[in-house]
Amino acid sequence: MKRTVLITGGSRGIGRQMAIDFGNAGYNVIINYNKSEKEAMSLVNELNGREIACQAIRADVSDGEQVKRMAKEIAFGHVDTLINNAGIAHIGLLQNDSEEDFDRVIGVDLKGVWLTTRAFLPAMIQNGFGRIINISSFWAERGSSTETAYTAAKAGVNGLTKALSREVGEYVTVNAIVAGLIATDMNDPVPPDALFRIVDNTPVRRIGTPEDVSHAALFLAEEKSSFINGALLHVDGGY
Ligand code: NAP
Repeated sequence: MKRTVLITGGSRGIGRQMAIDFGNAGYNVIINYNKSEKEAMSLVNELNGREIACQAIRADVSDGEQVKRMAKEIAFGHVDTLINNAGIAHIGLLQNDSEEDFDRVIGVDLKGVWLTTRAFLPAMIQNGFGRIINISSFWAERGSSTETAYTAAKAGVNGLTKALSREVGEYVTVNAIVAGLIATDMNDPVPPDALFRIVDNTPVRRIGTPEDVSHAALFLAEEKSSFINGALLHVDGGY
């Protein structure tokens, strides 16, 4: 049976790579985006051109009404693999951050996972099959100074993953990929010396690629991965 994957934040970075790799693996692909319409449409055209069924839906994952609308707009019946990937970073010292800064990061990176999962989980349970893969960060466990809200949001995602895996594991597996530093636009503000320090502390001696994360997501999505539930799969080169 042809499976359908929904990748939130699928227009750029890691999400874009997952859209390509899941499409190549035979999935129908739905990409969600918020602002990057041009990138989303270009990806849809690229995949459709390769005979991969692909749809793009605009929705801000931090907004419950927009997420509900997204669930009504999906083109391929139902979603059986949900990848909660949409995320934003914010760099600043806690004492300089505003309440709005905190709410925005928690809204997208944590509440967005909760809202999107709530919208797509019932159909998975009804169909007796589902895969939920949350994209978390190594900072969730180590803490990133100047990223308190981001760290807290990702630690929340790890907790949500573990809790939900106990609620629905009979039908739907819920896992998180705890990604190390990955080469995407998100890291544009990271200064070169900080990148160097991370590579220096990474036994495989490089930063990660979107392909590294995508590879792990494909593995967790497999039907044969049904005994992997509530896992935090580290894709960080051993940092
Ligand atoms: P990215 O290149 O900046 O891409 C972020 C994606 O999320 C874009 O497609 C963006 O679409 C989407 N997005 C942002 N806000 C959204 C919203 N409110 N609603 C819907 N979509 C939204 O970042 P990335 O590096 O690929 O990150 C992907 C995920 O991996 C994030 O959850 C991030 O925290 C996590 N992660 C990244 C790294 C890293 O080093 N890069 C490490 C660990 C974990 P629009 O442009 O349309 O808003």
